[in-house]
Amino acid sequence: MGPLIIISGPSGCGKSTLVERLLAQTNWPLHLAVSATTRPPRPGERDGTDYHFWTRERFDAELAADGFLEWAEVFGNRYGTLRREVEPYRARGEGVLLEIDVQGCRQVVRRCPDAVTIFVRTSTPEVLAERLRRRGTETAESLEQRLRGAAWELAHAHEYRHQVVNDDLESALKELRTILDPLFER
Ligand code: ADP
Ligand code: 5GP
Repeated sequence: MGPLIIISGPSGCGKSTLVERLLAQTNWPLHLAVSATTRPPRPGERDGTDYHFWTRERFDAELAADGFLEWAEVFGNRYGTLRREVEPYRARGEGVLLEIDVQGCRQVVRRCPDAVTIFVRTSTPEVLAERLRRRGTETAESLEQRLRGAAWELAHAHEYRHQVVNDDLESALKELRTILDPLFER
């Protein structure tokens, strides 16, 4: 079975940026699982690449068919990890990376206790707020919601095996490599 890696952390802490850089600088057999969500796409996001952007009906049909390894309601929308984005890859010995929230991580760890869990954060809430604002993807309301959510997620950071502070991107990448390199050494 290939390794299962879970990356969580407050919205805007830099998870996607870190993962994108990691995948670009390695040629590991590592699949980034594409989640399904009922949230609408942001400008530039592509269906099937960033997420499977589904209607609530499509999402609930998949749920009824037991297609999800985990799912959760986050900021008023449903997000879930599809079994088919995980199980076939791991069965072939490839690694799978999940970028999911704290609720989802708990569900996956219950089913796959060998998962390597990593919590990404910024050193202060101010850095996080500034980053989210600068990203320019959120309305005032959803920004507020994400910052409140960040406080909740941070309170659960201790549930993770590893923590990475992403203030300086290069240092954070290095820390991530220190955790993950041993999984892909042959
Ligand atoms: P997440 O996936 O956790 O929601 P993103 O990867 O979208 O976060 O990052 C949020 C914003 O912060 C983006 O605009 C990204 O370019 C920027 N960012 C990410 N990491 C850093 C960093 N170490 N220093 C400065 N800006 C960063
Ligand atoms: P965003 O809307 O910014 O892309 O993601 C919001 C939050 O949903 C982030 O905390 C992200 O980790 C989480 N998320 C994304 N995909 C999934 C998923 O498949 N399952 C769960 N539980 N959370 C997810």
